[in-house]
Amino acid sequence: MLAYVYEKKGKFTLQDRPRPQILNPGDAIVRVTLCSICTSDLHIKHGSVPQAVPGVILGHEMVGVVEETGDDVKNVKPGDRVTVNVETFCGECYFCRRGFVNNCQAPEGGWALGCRIDGGQAEYVRVPCAEQGLNKIDDTVTDEQALFVGDILATGFWAARIGEITREDTVLIIGAGPVGICTLLCAVLKNPEKIIVSEIDGERLRFVKEHYPQVLTVNPRETDVQDFVKKHSSHGGADVVLEMGGTEETFETAWKCARPNGTVVVAALYERPQTLPLPDMYGKNLTFKTGGVDGCDCDEILRLIKEGQIDTTPLITHRISLMDVEKAYDIFENRKDNVIKIALEV
Ligand SMILES: [Zn+2]
Ligand SMILES: [Zn+2]
Repeated sequence: MLAYVYEKKGKFTLQDRPRPQILNPGDAIVRVTLCSICTSDLHIKHGSVPQAVPGVILGHEMVGVVEETGDDVKNVKPGDRVTVNVETFCGECYFCRRGFVNNCQAPEGGWALGCRIDGGQAEYVRVPCAEQGLNKIDDTVTDEQALFVGDILATGFWAARIGEITREDTVLIIGAGPVGICTLLCAVLKNPEKIIVSEIDGERLRFVKEHYPQVLTVNPRETDVQDFVKKHSSHGGADVVLEMGGTEETFETAWKCARPNGTVVVAALYERPQTLPLPDMYGKNLTFKTGGVDGCDCDEILRLIKEGQIDTTPLITHRISLMDVEKAYDIFENRKDNVIKIALEV
């Protein structure tokens, strides 16, 4: 089968690989129908994901049809259309039982697909712990509507959830890339007083203005974001900041724009360490929440999509065959042609 492989730092290649087999009773084999490229794939390419294993098939954001299931998999059967969760989790360990599925202690727990074990930029993928990792797609929901459920939409949903957004809040979202926009969609569901989106890319700002006109936008290249947020909030800054940008500049903007005693959710994946200048923020008494997605709300997200409350299809700006995956990476990595997300058709 066709598969896109991480050979070594800086090098991905399209290869012919054998079809995956069931290895454990909890596994399922999924025939991939659509997959996508995520910024995390680029982080693997740039060598900033140390746990990524050379030779692994890439891809951790996909939907497909169940082809085969192991003996322990009861919730899905061959023929079911499913989303695949970015995270592998057993559902039984200390962390899973508390909903911290990202920290699952199972050998293949956490972000394994397309990083430590073969992923879904391929015709087929083996999904371990399939009972937890696969969610059925309703007949009324299309593959494109469901494509981001297991990764970037789960991330946005989780970030908005742990931000504990209330109706009185001014929420600042930093970064209007694919994950930032998913976060915006999920923050909107909390009905906060105001949402401000900060983004340096003019085209991405235009996209936000066009699709979500109720949101305030600010470009840090043109306007002082801290001043802007102060002006549009009641208590000297944002009540909740969701930092999805992942750069030194966005990290600094995040804590600076939060009001005293505010919450800063740092969900971005950085390529370098960031400085936390504690003397400068002394007395501001911020709450920081950090880390990777806990993708444990996929059924709820699928329900919200079915009800028409979340629609991520405008994010799909390109549809390209898996055969042309190299062209797709070139477009995505170099942000050509106003790309936001690419659906790779398998
Ligand atoms: Zn991802
Ligand atoms: Zn677990």
